[in-house]
Amino acid sequence: MDRVYNFSAGPAVLPVEVLEKAQKQLIAYETAGMSIMEMSHRSAAFGEIIESAQEMLRRLMNIPSNYHVLFLHGGASSQFSMVPMNLMRQGKADFVITGQWAKKAAEEAARYGQVNKVASSADRTFAYIPELDPGTFDPDADYFHITVNNTIYGTRFTSLPDTGKVPLVTDMSSSILSEVYDVSRFGLIYAGAQKNIGPAGVAIVIVRDDLIGATLPGTPTMFDYKVHVENKSLYNTPPTFAVYMAKLVFEWLLERGGVSAIQQHNEEKAALLYDFLDISKLFRGTVDKKDRSLMNVSFVTGNPDVDAKFIKEAKQAGLVNLSGHRSVGGMRASIYNAMPREGVMALVDFMKTFEMQN
Ligand SMILES: *Cc1c(COP(=O)(O)O)cnc(C)c1O
Repeated sequence: MDRVYNFSAGPAVLPVEVLEKAQKQLIAYETAGMSIMEMSHRSAAFGEIIESAQEMLRRLMNIPSNYHVLFLHGGASSQFSMVPMNLMRQGKADFVITGQWAKKAAEEAARYGQVNKVASSADRTFAYIPELDPGTFDPDADYFHITVNNTIYGTRFTSLPDTGKVPLVTDMSSSILSEVYDVSRFGLIYAGAQKNIGPAGVAIVIVRDDLIGATLPGTPTMFDYKVHVENKSLYNTPPTFAVYMAKLVFEWLLERGGVSAIQQHNEEKAALLYDFLDISKLFRGTVDKKDRSLMNVSFVTGNPDVDAKFIKEAKQAGLVNLSGHRSVGGMRASIYNAMPREGVMALVDFMKTFEMQN
């Protein structure tokens, strides 16, 4: 079967070894005589799957024992509401606006309290991470929110703000497990799985123990972290197959040496592409060099017709989903953990050939 190099921003490429394993186990999981999809979420077999998924994620991210790991429905977008419903006790939060997702998170939080936008990079279409002045941080805020990797524009925080006692909360959807993060720097981390972990359908929340248990009045049961913690993510039926796939991806990562090893691999992959963009006479990267994402690489030729021709011809060459986000145009290559180095090399080779011909 022919596979293309899929540069989609999400749902995105998965390791072929993981897909093959899932295929083998699809009809009958181990000795269960049935598919994971047909299995009770209360069964012993599924219990083992979700337990070991959690245990492996803890190992991969070195998650301290005073943090809970949850597997929830509703994507990263539900977390835009769930975070304020659980954390906005004084009714105030700080936000750094570095793109569409940060904006959406802030808009949702504003339904529950006061949102202080400490900085924004909207003035240059989010092509950089703004300098932060701690003097503008609210020391009494309930939390401080950043989007650590900006999927749409291709920027990332290379260092974390020091928020003192105010819990740092991050949307890590597009960079979780791509580089080493110190979990203890955060109060809460959330991520949709479909960028760098598994199929769509499951969102991961890593939350410090002292931040749960005091929801805003009217918070639905399903939006209360404590309920999910007490029920080990089995309050209702979790997205069982997506959790199973995430577990296979965690296993794959551990077999490859964990996050520090994949980070090195990701840095090498990203450098292949950025180094070429820096010398190319046709293509150029769209974001400030110091803030470049390792996962989402945005670039343009400067001519929308040439961009369209490039995307079309790349697709014919088996390099697919290279269009930039509908809000920005141009090109974007998402090179998540599962994108092999060969895929990035094939893209760079194709760009070189296209440049000579155009
Ligand atoms: C994709 C993405 C989202 C949206 O995720 P859903 O699971 O579709 O809700 C939010 N934040 C970031 C940073 C993303 O990349």
